[in-house]
Amino acid sequence: MMLIKTGLLIDGTGGAAHPTCYLAIENGRIAGRGQAGDFATADVAKAVDFSPYTVMPGLIDTHVHLFLEGISDLKARTLRWKESKDTILIRAVNNLALALRQGVTTVRDLGGPYGINALLKKAVSQGVTVGPQVLTACQAISITGGHFHYAGGREADGPEEMVKAVREQAKGGADCIKIMMTGSVNFIRQDAGVVELSQAETQAVVHEAQRLNKPVAVHANGVDGVRQALSAGVSTIEHGALIDEVTADLIAASQVYWIPTLVPFERMLDYGRNHRTKTLPAEGIEQVYFRHQAMVLRAYQAGAKIVAGTDAGALGVEHGDVWREIGLLVECGLPPVAALHAATGLAAKAVGMDSQIGTIETGKRADLLVLEGNPLMDITCIRKIVTVFKNGKEYPR
Ligand SMILES: [Zn+2]
Repeated sequence: MMLIKTGLLIDGTGGAAHPTCYLAIENGRIAGRGQAGDFATADVAKAVDFSPYTVMPGLIDTHVHLFLEGISDLKARTLRWKESKDTILIRAVNNLALALRQGVTTVRDLGGPYGINALLKKAVSQGVTVGPQVLTACQAISITGGHFHYAGGREADGPEEMVKAVREQAKGGADCIKIMMTGSVNFIRQDAGVVELSQAETQAVVHEAQRLNKPVAVHANGVDGVRQALSAGVSTIEHGALIDEVTADLIAASQVYWIPTLVPFERMLDYGRNHRTKTLPAEGIEQVYFRHQAMVLRAYQAGAKIVAGTDAGALGVEHGDVWREIGLLVECGLPPVAALHAATGLAAKAVGMDSQIGTIETGKRADLLVLEGNPLMDITCIRKIVTVFKNGKEYPR
């Protein structure tokens, strides 16, 4: 048994922070929380003193693609697709280590080629490699020729085949099911193209996934795609750009988890301003992004569950960039306590892992972040990492 003496304690439940206390850690889990008097004097004397620091739960990135880094050069990105499976796998191992260094103790991979995400999940859980716990959708499911099919996706057509595709992912070790409802945002036309899955296909996926107890994560942009996902009863909306006020309110009313992935939009805007390419015009990105931010705030104020996810691997988005997403949620107008909740306790609920992770409570895994300063007062403190614990084991920076 090990005792940690905390400074400020942010427990990840979204409530007020606690003053200095002691956390007992045993067998990788939080075994208790209390004051000095609650523990044996000998243990208190040996406690690790983090009292000058803030202690909070490890961060959860609910949307990543481990096979890819956030390369900002469009040509280099194209070449990356042609690399061998072995090279991509080695890069992915590095991406995992990078995320852990930034305080991320759980990632959810929402699709990639060669079964790499499932391989990494196993490698981390067996201690073969160091990284955050990996949850995965295995292959993202799309219609034939649909969005992201080129990234090792599972193409399926018709309700029957959708059911088969869902079962295949479950067989491969998937923790959730990912479907591609629409394309990505076209910043010139300011649209997300057609809704790719039919209503019947969407319902077939959700029905089968629910039967197998797997949450469904839906890549959807635009009013029609998001609404079709909502009406099918999915678990998380990924991205959700280009929606209107009514749809933002529907998201809030539905109690779905919304993962707006602000970082890729902010990074793309940065790219557009610096490169002046035709396909990524700064003005177009700006309009989409500012509207997206406004809808996130509107939905939050209407009671929506806004959750942090980075889409790490997207243009300019590196693994471990959850600190950016947290900062951008605050920039949207969310209070810091909500932005931190979005990457801890609420994120754990969104990925169906809240019995294990996300909050500092007895019985949960000892995934902890030790920070300089108080992120509730200054959100940039989320980057001032002193050390990280995962399953009670320390990974010093
Ligand atoms: Zn993605």
